Amino acid sequence: MRTLIVSDVHANLNALEAVLRDAGQGAPIDSVWSLGDCVGYGPEPGECIACLKGFDAVMIAGNHERAATGAIGTEDFNADAAAAAQWTKARLTPDEGAFLDALPEVERRDDVTLVHGTLRWPIWEYLYSAEAALGHFALQETPFGLVGHTHVPMLALEEPESPEGCRLYRLDDGETVDLDRNQRIVLNPGSVGQPRDGDPRASYAVYDSGSSAITLHRVEYEVATTQELMAEAGLPRWLIERLSVGR
Ligand code: ZN
Repeated sequence: MRTLIVSDVHANLNALEAVLRDAGQGAPIDSVWSLGDCVGYGPEPGECIACLKGFDAVMIAGNHERAATGAIGTEDFNADAAAAAQWTKARLTPDEGAFLDALPEVERRDDVTLVHGTLRWPIWEYLYSAEAALGHFALQETPFGLVGHTHVPMLALEEPESPEGCRLYRLDDGETVDLDRNQRIVLNPGSVGQPRDGDPRASYAVYDSGSSAITLHRVEYEVATTQELMAEAGLPRWLIERLSVGR
């Protein structure tokens, strides 16, 4: 079984389609897991929801799903994110809104737990630090965890013997993580639709249950096409510009 792992698609259909093409090369994808923030920032929220539903994707909610339906306010968002959330909310159909509202914040598939931020604070906490990773690991009942939210591809290894208790690594294009049930990990596949690690290419991962490994991938997409759609929609300028630089 090959599972495509995407996160933070952020209504960027061009990027999502490039990922689906790239991931399906060579061998087919059997399932899709989406780790939240499929909407917000980008120009095609309904199209991205439909695309993921078309793959019968396992989907969880991030802060942007919650803001897009009004389930949470945007007081904690910066001005650009709040403006994009309002734009998204106005654009969603009632059915799309109801679908997003019904998404859970945590899912489990066999040995893997899926959550947008951390298990400690599912839609809000960024798993950037050893402290956040330890807080998350304390609640992770499976050997393997998947998170998004930071838009930076990363691996955290639990190491109870070490002083920090865990180690964090950035993940590069093509890097493979072999899964071992005795080594608890949490992995972030990076962002499909708005990468923030200085590399503008869409980021995603593939979980191969046959070889028990997860591989990180980057793929180029038509950034300018997404930017044109965002400009036509009147979305904030910085959100448009940052896609060129991956910040
Ligand atoms: Zn996000």
